[in-house]
Amino acid sequence: MFAEGDFTATYKFALLISFAELAVEHGADDGAELTLTTRQIAERFVFLYWQHATPYGTGRPVVSPAFWFRISGSKPRFSTQSQNSELALQHHQRYKHPDYRAIGPLLSKVASVVSAQLLKYLQNFAGVTDPFLYERRSSGSVTLKPGVSYCLRRFYTLVEQMARTRWVAHIKANRRNHPILGKSDDLEDFLFSSSRQSLAIISTQLRKLDGSRCFYCGEGLLDADVDHFVPFSLYSRDLANNFVLAHPACNRSKSDTLAARAHLERWLERLVLKEQELAEIGLLAGVSGDKEIVQRVATWGYKVANETGGRAWLSPTTYENVDSLYPSLLSGN
Ligand SMILES: [Zn+2]
Repeated sequence: MFAEGDFTATYKFALLISFAELAVEHGADDGAELTLTTRQIAERFVFLYWQHATPYGTGRPVVSPAFWFRISGSKPRFSTQSQNSELALQHHQRYKHPDYRAIGPLLSKVASVVSAQLLKYLQNFAGVTDPFLYERRSSGSVTLKPGVSYCLRRFYTLVEQMARTRWVAHIKANRRNHPILGKSDDLEDFLFSSSRQSLAIISTQLRKLDGSRCFYCGEGLLDADVDHFVPFSLYSRDLANNFVLAHPACNRSKSDTLAARAHLERWLERLVLKEQELAEIGLLAGVSGDKEIVQRVATWGYKVANETGGRAWLSPTTYENVDSLYPSLLSGN
């Protein structure tokens, strides 16, 4: 697809990333088909593009592919001088972040575009449709073919990285973007990192919920980092119940590693005990707070680590091997 696909806009990258994320969150490793609704895909689109409609850089013009306003008929582009940017900004000022309670009508609109346009062209090569990834269903949903969901799960990090790299290159290749992008090299960060606004909300709320203690070493906190329990480098979507507070030093030391069993057990306990509170934090911060989803993501992450001989972080000097006990802890066996 990357070699032969015709990428005239960024939505194909978004669609691939959406499929990969949904396969991790809802798929299985048995090679089975996976049916997804256009609304599930639309939700991914709204969240993926949301950050792209925020102002880029300090004192710079607003850059926006303005996805949601593209659906009203205007052309997709990444440029400053467009009405799209204005509209995207208005949407931002109104909702601040993607609020599940407020984006219902937006989701319906996006879902109809996903169905009528995007799904139609992803598998199109030189004008011919080759349905090697999915089949459309008359109900409007799509079914990922046998083995596709498995592959997306197994190679999630690779697919995600390739899609992002190509996405960034696509934006940089557009001449109209050159004056906006300038010499700074933070475009990928701007497009795909966690929203600082969401992290600030989560940090404040977690202090109220968990107290001012480091999740990992248990010592008191002055400065706190918001740590992704399942590392962001492994799974790049923010989930409210995947966040814990940690010392900057503990966070840096754990870095891109999964947490060791003792931490995992505590995290699972907290997931159940504070389910409601974490879901509410998700609503405030504009990220999913669904307990089942984060649990499936963690199960997937530890399973991959187990199969590939990964290690888990216990403390700055101690690591454990991720054995088969880890995934079984998560599935409750
Ligand atoms: Zn600590």
